[in-house]
Amino acid sequence: MTRPAELAAGGLIAPERIAALDAVAARYAVAVTPAMADLIDAADPDDPIARQFIPDPAELDRRPEEIDDPIGDEPHAAAPGIVHRYPDRALLKLVHVCAVYCRFCFRREMVGPGAKMLTPDEMAAAFAYIRETPAIWEVVITGGDPLVVSPRRIAEAVAGLAAIDHVKVIRWHTRLPVVDPARITPALVDALKAPGKASYVVLHANHARELTPAARAACARLVDAGIPMLSQSVLLKGINDTPEALADLMRALVESRVKPYYLHHGDLAPGTSHLRTTITEGQALMRALRGRVSGLCQPTYVLDIPGGHGKVPIGPGYLCEGVEADSYDVMDYQGAIHRYPPKA
Ligand SMILES: *Cc1c(COP(=O)(O)O)cnc(C)c1O
Ligand code: SF4
Repeated sequence: MTRPAELAAGGLIAPERIAALDAVAARYAVAVTPAMADLIDAADPDDPIARQFIPDPAELDRRPEEIDDPIGDEPHAAAPGIVHRYPDRALLKLVHVCAVYCRFCFRREMVGPGAKMLTPDEMAAAFAYIRETPAIWEVVITGGDPLVVSPRRIAEAVAGLAAIDHVKVIRWHTRLPVVDPARITPALVDALKAPGKASYVVLHANHARELTPAARAACARLVDAGIPMLSQSVLLKGINDTPEALADLMRALVESRVKPYYLHHGDLAPGTSHLRTTITEGQALMRALRGRVSGLCQPTYVLDIPGGHGKVPIGPGYLCEGVEADSYDVMDYQGAIHRYPPKA
């Protein structure tokens, strides 16, 4: 479903909202997969799945601090489809289409159904850049959602990277195992693997309800094939900004053998202020997780610094200088302060 009239026909929105949402859809791409439509409880005005995918007139409220390229891909564009910000790893943006369009997307000005795939010439230039840059140890394949391309094209990309000696790790960032689990076919899983290279899949998921039995089975197909999985989530107001929602999400991921990797602070993408929390709120949530849920369930809370300066951890600090020389004050997960080293 890509048009508000279809969302109404599917019972996901009231028909009287079509006109207002058409105005949003004219500005930002809309798509909801059947798997996500099935999860939406249209009777619940605060449904956390609806809030991620159903357009909202609040998106037309653009704030002065919001930026078209919030994480600064542009200053580090090194070749067609390549963003090279850190020395040892480069992004390869294979496609700019996705199976769903998230309302908070940090690349919302770049992604959409009309956006092109890299042409064969551009692909050749991207691979030439990677080949000629020996510092690139890891290639992070992103988009859009790179797993929407055919297994044949995925296998071609993997073979191209596998032929480059200095590339040791191939990392795919995707939402597909959750939003369209049936598309994680054995052929696709097979296409991701390359002899002698490590393939990783990083799943983007934001709410425990996304980890349906079908989504968990899709993750199992990847992990059983020997592909380690990590996750990234975005901290989103009204979706996962409570200790319970975050704990449930992280546990659902770990139960699916997906290790929580990053919890992203909401990027300054245009028209997303209604979905952003403050950093202070994010830090309080991270404190609430620490000690109360398994260490396996702890992601790193990160901010992608606007302007292309990279990701940094912005979680709460537990350590400060003590009053005596060479001593520290350390806070435990319940908030009590302890001197380190302890007094003799
Ligand atoms: C996020 C990102 C990466 C990957 O960063 P990690 O911290 O290794 O996950 C690499 N390059 C760019 C340009 C990025 O935005
Ligand atoms: S799947 Fe990723 S790239 Fe696509 S709309 Fe969602 S956040 Fe953006």
